[in-house]
Amino acid sequence: MTILRVALDVPLPTLFDYRSEDATRADIGYRVLVPFGKKRLVGVIWDVATKSGVADSRLRSAEKILRDVAPLPREWLALAEFCSGYYHGPLGEVVAAALPPRLRTAKIVPLAPRDYVLTPIGGEALAATASRHRRLRALLERLARGRASESELRTQGTGSRKLLRRGIEAGWIASVEPERSEPRFVHAHELTSEQENAIRVLRSGLEKFRVSLLFGVTGSGKTEIYLQLIAEVLARRKQVLILVPEIALTPALEAAFRDRFPGACIVTQTSAMAELERARGWLLAHGGRADIVLGTRLSVFTPLPRLGLVVVDEEQDASFKQREGVRYSARDLAIARAHIAGASVVLCSATPSLESFHHATSGKYELVALTRRAIDRAALPAIRLIDTRVHPSQEGIVLPLLEALAARLARGEQSLVFLNRRGYAPALACPACGWVKGCGRCSANMVVHLAARRLRCHHCGLAEGIPRACPECGNPDLQAFGRGTQRIEITLAEKFPHARILRVDSDAVRTRNKLEELLERATHADILVGTQILAKGHHFERLTLAGVLNADSGLFSSDYRAGERTFAQLQQVAGRAGRANLPGEVLIQTRYPEHPLYQALVRNDYAGFAKSMLAERREAGFPPFVFEAALRAESTDELRAQRFLRSAIDQSPHRSASIAVFDPVPMSLARLALQTFLAEWNDALYRMPSHGVRWHLDVDPIEF
Ligand code: ADP
Ligand code: ZN
Ligand code: ZN
Repeated sequence: MTILRVALDVPLPTLFDYRSEDATRADIGYRVLVPFGKKRLVGVIWDVATKSGVADSRLRSAEKILRDVAPLPREWLALAEFCSGYYHGPLGEVVAAALPPRLRTAKIVPLAPRDYVLTPIGGEALAATASRHRRLRALLERLARGRASESELRTQGTGSRKLLRRGIEAGWIASVEPERSEPRFVHAHELTSEQENAIRVLRSGLEKFRVSLLFGVTGSGKTEIYLQLIAEVLARRKQVLILVPEIALTPALEAAFRDRFPGACIVTQTSAMAELERARGWLLAHGGRADIVLGTRLSVFTPLPRLGLVVVDEEQDASFKQREGVRYSARDLAIARAHIAGASVVLCSATPSLESFHHATSGKYELVALTRRAIDRAALPAIRLIDTRVHPSQEGIVLPLLEALAARLARGEQSLVFLNRRGYAPALACPACGWVKGCGRCSANMVVHLAARRLRCHHCGLAEGIPRACPECGNPDLQAFGRGTQRIEITLAEKFPHARILRVDSDAVRTRNKLEELLERATHADILVGTQILAKGHHFERLTLAGVLNADSGLFSSDYRAGERTFAQLQQVAGRAGRANLPGEVLIQTRYPEHPLYQALVRNDYAGFAKSMLAERREAGFPPFVFEAALRAESTDELRAQRFLRSAIDQSPHRSASIAVFDPVPMSLARLALQTFLAEWNDALYRMPSHGVRWHLDVDPIEF
């Protein structure tokens, strides 16, 4: 008897066994349709065995092996296994996250006209079919002589569509993409000597596994460097995977890639794409035809049989970490993936994560640093710290910033007012008794949204009306404390009644426009008020001033990553100002102008800042000097969640105490020890009754 061991999207850490009539080990990696309870699910065949631990009477039969898509290659299976093992998520869930939605169904993906080839099983079948089926035999014989297009087969009369489908379903014939692409590269710039050096170092790392960190300020020409490196990899007929943080950035980047690589087959992969389009792109990559795959974190799972290079742009970006299901880090998986494939990785950033920076300075990664901007005339923007204890302010905006805004308006230049807090005000409070409106579902404060006349929890999404009076003391005069983007927008409109002011934050994106439309309108505005969605990657030709309002909130956060994030964000905001011919200026209002973070920012010295942060982390025992994992539990009843977590500690392999103090152990051992601990603990957790508590394990968490 043949048993298929199948990875299914079921929240259980196991493979599922099914009986099969005709399967062989050559079927490993194919998708398969199986019955599960009352449903039918599509999974991936992970193994083919001769016996099962499941009793014969309970074994069900697989319905159909889906041979319309070539089997997933070994390297892909290995990556999924690594992901499942490292992040302790069920393999089936990893597979579900890794496949495009369309391929999680049994529906065939209709493709553009394709070529057909004979598979090895087809070759054996050809030897065996003798004269049983004359026409099928003629078709197999034709394909044994080499690939053929569908139209060619039809005109020669060897292959009807029906006959081809039969051959494909039997696994004898595979469809492949037609003629190869002819990628060319358009040279745009003579490289600076610094860029030349960088390319030389990166080139020497090709054709093998190596991780490099390309570190340089915005505008130092990092993109130009990796474009040239990609050209080199394509010339060696290898494939390139490029991971970018923002969905909104991919269309612009894709257009740039098409300009620079005419003739190349370029595929994008994001969650926002139509199902069929995404599946087709994925299949182009899987079939080896796509030269370049450009996408967000989920694209790290795109199968690429000729992978030669992975680029992770803005590698520090938090969006590379998946926040639900299996909580993988796409950046870290990209490295694991390149390791499996023997390919090279380039991490790019102006403000690398401290983890990557540490690896680069300690010799684990290759450090490739750029110190100058690529274009001489594009000077770095001048950053000025405005001490709010000295300078008077109006409605939360200091006078020097108001003056600077007025000056830009007079010159017809554009300004950006940045603050990382959307809504009208971050808190609703009673000045009489001190009551503050908290969220009824979690512990966060409710944010006042005046435009929608609602209170919203930015943490869990709960929304409700604004109360008329204080529930504690009855005072009808409740006040909105603090300032969000909506309030600043209103203030600026009062101060500059003739200015075109546009707010760009996720509320505006949700209620008004799609981000692309909003960004298009943004080019015509005089003053932009925005959160971090404005800080990333967009080019505004006339923008010469960036004002930052509430950066201080990042200085004293309980999250030890807040400093590094604040620096990255401020540098990105600064990067928006004065990119073209006009010199830029950045004004940051702060109560702590002497803070080392701001001082490093003014000196444009991320490396120095990163080194001092790393020294602090080493001292305090934070990553990258330790490895962490978090077990989180959620329930409508807080006590239940606590009870669950407490018994989880009881069930943990180290039974001693709720706080484990580890003896110092070598780094590699520490990680291994944690992984062994987690593996055992994970088993125990799955056996624990959950009583309606939802829980998950987060390895290398980036927030607490
Ligand atoms: P980064 O990715 O580091 O922000 P880019 O590669 O986008 O930098 O380069 C910034 C700007 O400088 C772009 O407009 C780019 O076209 C230009 N540029 C890059 N390299 C050169 C060069 N060698 N000569 C002239 N312009 C360059
Ligand atoms: Zn009150
Ligand atoms: Zn909440």
